[in-house]
Amino acid sequence: MADSATTSRFHDVVIVGAGAAGVGVAVTLRHAGIDDLVLLDRRGVGASFAAWPEETRFITPSFPTNSIGMLDLNSVAIGTSPAATLGVEHPTGREYASYLRRLAQFFELPIALGAEVLDATSIDGGFRLRLPEGNLRAKHVIWAAGEFQYPRLGGMPGSEHCVHTATIERYEDVDGDDLIVIGGYESGVDAAYHLATGGKRVRLFDRGRPWRSETSDPSVALSTYSAERMRDDRFVDRVALHPNTAIASVHPADDGYVVTAVGGERFETQVSPLFAGGFEGSHGTVAELFERRDDGFPLLSEHDESTITPGLFLCGPAVRHGNQSFCFIYKYRQRFAVVAKAIATSLGLPAEALEIYRTWGMYLDDLSCCGQECVC
Ligand SMILES: Cc1cc2nc3c(=O)[nH]c(=O)nc-3n(C[C@H](O)[C@H](O)[C@H](O)COP(=O)(O)OP(=O)(O)OC[C@H]3O[C@@H](n4cnc5c(N)ncnc54)[C@H](O)[C@@H]3O)c2cc1C
Repeated sequence: MADSATTSRFHDVVIVGAGAAGVGVAVTLRHAGIDDLVLLDRRGVGASFAAWPEETRFITPSFPTNSIGMLDLNSVAIGTSPAATLGVEHPTGREYASYLRRLAQFFELPIALGAEVLDATSIDGGFRLRLPEGNLRAKHVIWAAGEFQYPRLGGMPGSEHCVHTATIERYEDVDGDDLIVIGGYESGVDAAYHLATGGKRVRLFDRGRPWRSETSDPSVALSTYSAERMRDDRFVDRVALHPNTAIASVHPADDGYVVTAVGGERFETQVSPLFAGGFEGSHGTVAELFERRDDGFPLLSEHDESTITPGLFLCGPAVRHGNQSFCFIYKYRQRFAVVAKAIATSLGLPAEALEIYRTWGMYLDDLSCCGQECVC
């Protein structure tokens, strides 16, 4: 594995980001016979996972099912399984990062670390990527820089007084005995659970009631893992749920902070509220190279390519098609072979080896593998 910056070569493919999406799609490109590729990451392989709060675990369970041709839900490469590698069902972020590092070593992926892409420009039938150390050229670019390192901090007056859950190292170290958590989806419930099991009281606010959703799609409804944890006695005793309570603002007060709901109700707290308000996502860095959907996500062709910048692909949780959100690993990995096949075809490679992806139930051509209006 390369461990330092970039070269001046014109690569067939540059992948920006060595997280689950970048590593997974790189392995798939290799299966497609594409050799001239490089992954760039400003931190390290699996860096976002390694930065999760220490107590946070995967909500999607890992289980080794390779023997019958099914991928572990958290696997990003055929034949590999985080469950088998790590020996745990719900890995922590640090454990999962070590799975990704082992994949990168095993598949001998060429990775340049400490390589931060500042922006990308479409130029002369390819791309110029700007890095602090200089420029890098590529015929195709796969944007896989994720969301975690781009937390949503704004949008609410006073959000600067809050602590985003993505910046917490350990819930055990959070100050205060009575905390407010804003945002009641997975990260908010995860925060409340760890704080409550650590003996603290929590008030959990959400504009809706995600813990009572009618759908079974974990992109919308709370996962089973979180639902189970919400039934833990310590959660039931110490967490007060405030559904349908959108927070309008947070203001400093004499003795802490005042959190005001849209309806005018005020809640006091002595310590900074925790904000589990999601992520802006890294695609903003290359926003001008994509058309935007009405929901703000990049508009993609059926090959997950930009509709206005040929050669630029998106991989990872920001992928959207119609009403389908690919925000979990087991969802967005379905698109790796589609992207690899499109790039192989553009390079004049047959990509026959990718046929194996079909036998593992993965997309290869388009969105038709599900064969139905998606309710997955
Ligand atoms: C608390 C939490 C729990 C989650 N639990 C689950 C779960 O149980 N199951 C599941 O499927 N999903 C889960 N997710 C979602 C999952 O973590 C994400 O889908 C996943 O991290 C996305 O992978 P990625 O490779 O797209 O992004 P990342 O893992 O963030 O990787 C992106 C990489 O790009 C690098 N990078 C960023 N910007 C640049 C740049 N400009 N230049 C160079 N490099 C750059 C970063 O250093 C990083 O290594 C969870 C997310 C969170 C926050």
